[in-house]
Amino acid sequence: MSSLFPTYKRKQIQLHKGSGTVVFDQNNKRYLDFTSGIAVTSLGHCHPEVVRALKEQSENIWHTSNLFEIQQQELLAETLVNQTHLDAAFFCNSGAEANEAAIKLAKKYTKRNKIITFKDSFHGRTFGSMSATGQPKIKEGYGPLLTEFIHLPFNDSVQLKNTADSDTAAIMLEVIQGEGGVKIADSSFYKQVQELCKEHDILLIIDEVQTGIGRTGKRYAYEHFDLDPDMVTLAKGLGNGFPIGAMLGKSKLTEAFGPGSHGTTFGGNPLACAVSQSVLNIIFCDRFLKDVERKGRNLKNRLEDALINLPFVNEIRGIGLLIGIECEYAAELMKALEEHGLLTVPAGEKVIRLLPPLNVTDEELETAVRIVTEAFNNIYTKAI
Ligand SMILES: *Cc1c(COP(=O)(O)O)cnc(C)c1O
Repeated sequence: MSSLFPTYKRKQIQLHKGSGTVVFDQNNKRYLDFTSGIAVTSLGHCHPEVVRALKEQSENIWHTSNLFEIQQQELLAETLVNQTHLDAAFFCNSGAEANEAAIKLAKKYTKRNKIITFKDSFHGRTFGSMSATGQPKIKEGYGPLLTEFIHLPFNDSVQLKNTADSDTAAIMLEVIQGEGGVKIADSSFYKQVQELCKEHDILLIIDEVQTGIGRTGKRYAYEHFDLDPDMVTLAKGLGNGFPIGAMLGKSKLTEAFGPGSHGTTFGGNPLACAVSQSVLNIIFCDRFLKDVERKGRNLKNRLEDALINLPFVNEIRGIGLLIGIECEYAAELMKALEEHGLLTVPAGEKVIRLLPPLNVTDEELETAVRIVTEAFNNIYTKAI
């Protein structure tokens, strides 16, 4: 029996070695990793630049606490807010913590309590971020949660307009709902969100924990929809597997987060920031991001050509290298993909999510499309 709490339903696979998109299990079976540890290892496994940054920093200093100035934190904050309308960063250790920071700051700055989030959203597992989350299964058994949150249907502009008012502190939004099933709203919905925020002085918090740091072919996914967030939360891809999260915000908010108002022991330590800086040095580069956009478009088109005529495939959607295939038999198909050497992640109820590293090669994408096409056609042959 395992000495672990059984909080996860784990596969019988142990990945013990990886390089780029390729990973090997305990029997040395080779896979293409289209999970990236759930949108985390965006530069693949053991990227030489990231390994070098970790090694170098680990030989200088790891941790000092936020009682001291941390040059690596200053530099990382500057890199993150550069060319955005955001001005300041707060560093923490996870997506849930980044959202906690945003929720606390929104309440403190606005002196309002009501926060609007959306059904099927996912914002994390702490009490605050779990209360924000719009999926009942995440909250089951935990008793009364924070009462601040109102969960509206995603992509419903009318209900949003009827609910957002001058008592609303914030609207918290995933531009693309990742865990909820790779769902994207109409551009009119994002426009409505932005307009209501301006009209009632509501803070717009965009949860980019999954979609940020180049995943959609832009540094942040909100750039696709011309949104102007007051806060952005980050984690997953920010450290390529080294735990780090961040909350970015506009300068008007800085005063409400003065000394003693919020904090964390580990957040933004030199080791985490040095690793993250090496990640951004590669990803925050126009040429790199354009290539993500190109590969994402190509992957989506190829999958559409191959699958869309199968009667059990509903839709293929996503932006950049965050792609979901909504279909019947999702669990069986994912098992078949795994057997043929392609690892994927489920999302929502019927969605297979593809999250390759952003530097995946065209050849690896071709191989993945071939494996997917074969598995889907095999299931179809069996089903009829
Ligand atoms: C994964 C995720 C989180 C939670 O991040 P943790 O690091 O697991 O706390 C929050 N929001 C979104 C959109 C996520 O995908």
